Amino acid sequence: MREPQEYAAIILAGSRILDPSQGMDGSGALLIVDGRIAAIGSEQDVEAKLSELDIGPEQRMTLRQPAGSVIAPGFVDLHAHLRQPGFEAKETIATGAEAAARGGFTTICCMPNTQPVIDSRATLEYVLRAAENAPVRIGPIAAISKGEDGHELSEMVELAQAGVVAFSDDGRPVASSKLMRSALEYAAPLGLPVVEHCQDEDLVGGGVMHEGQISTLLGLKGWPAEGEEVMLARDLALVRLTGAKYHAAHLSTAGAVELVRQAKREGLPVTAEVTPHHLLLTDAWVAGERTGPLADALAEIGVPVLPGERYDTDTKVNPPLRTAKDCAALLAGLRDGTIDAIATDHAPHTLTDKACEYGEAAFGISGLETALASLLALVHVERLDLATLVAALTVRPARAWNLDAGTLKVGAHADITVFDPNEAWVVDPARFASKGKNTPLTGLTLHGRVRQTWLGGKLVYAAGN
Ligand SMILES: [Zn+2]
Repeated sequence: MREPQEYAAIILAGSRILDPSQGMDGSGALLIVDGRIAAIGSEQDVEAKLSELDIGPEQRMTLRQPAGSVIAPGFVDLHAHLRQPGFEAKETIATGAEAAARGGFTTICCMPNTQPVIDSRATLEYVLRAAENAPVRIGPIAAISKGEDGHELSEMVELAQAGVVAFSDDGRPVASSKLMRSALEYAAPLGLPVVEHCQDEDLVGGGVMHEGQISTLLGLKGWPAEGEEVMLARDLALVRLTGAKYHAAHLSTAGAVELVRQAKREGLPVTAEVTPHHLLLTDAWVAGERTGPLADALAEIGVPVLPGERYDTDTKVNPPLRTAKDCAALLAGLRDGTIDAIATDHAPHTLTDKACEYGEAAFGISGLETALASLLALVHVERLDLATLVAALTVRPARAWNLDAGTLKVGAHADITVFDPNEAWVVDPARFASKGKNTPLTGLTLHGRVRQTWLGGKLVYAAGN
């Protein structure tokens, strides 16, 4: 059998098309020619468009999707750690990209906290070369400071010319206000966002989980909500001073959501993201008590959620899982547009990085392959509508960073995700394409599965193959 991409024209038909970039939500079809969207709309319109083209019947293919499936723009992730160069035991660009394709992502932006750090043209070019044949588009983020050590700015202008999509010292904050001001001043004329991991290190110290009742109960060092909010407030003052584009990574507290809401109201050029785990899980998971939005949603649809283990190091993430009140504020922020994007903060680690005492374990969750299904739990219980979810995974992140992605408009790259929002499956990290098996969701039954991922008109992932 010929591969779909061997045909000159491919029609995807028979399912719901959901493209928030053009307010489209209904049954329809789309036509792919030369790796781009050539037509989208009713099946009749798409057939009519095809008949205008000089493409013989043997060069055309129609792929009818099973009833109930959804065709959406390929997902865009503004925050992933691919670990290469330097930490290839945790992940490589190839395995991370494969995990992304399986998760329905077609564009991912990778953080520079590798070894060496992406702070020079040479390292950037190495990453771009390694990403060339990946099944997803990879937009590298360059470091703000050389070596991410917070002292001296990287060659921001040169790195921008060489194709980075943003600047960040993610993994750590930019502690110096003076350096942050300079970074914003350099980034402003380049039109690229400065992305902050908001964490006041003096205040957070060696905190390993949210500071509150549960950290006291467990005897673990706390990471207070104010540690995020103090840094975000400082940054917003510097954005007001410089007028530069600023993006707050992985918001985790109700107070941070309110700060971004006020900043947007004021007209500051600020955008923000939230991760699936901060929307869905609470600090109680660290104590083995699985409460919060995901557990509530699963219980409501009749999926049993058994207690977890106390001190499960797969719940250790930075910023930490917070309270149900914070989850509710993050969801409200996502719904009202205060928070632009859902980003995975995919942070793969080896088993040994996590097989130790809670305080010693590495921070992070391997998230690319569970993002969609975990988030769909909120849709199944009507806390979030599917169009908002898809927008937060497609057009909203693309617009936030001005990326050529996140839409099925005619002329756009044919980067497409087809998913079944209802298919049930059990999370088994042994089956992940990612080398990172570190997820607190192991063994849970989730509903929603990516069936196909297309990149530039090529089928790069098909479930079951
Ligand atoms: Zn971070």
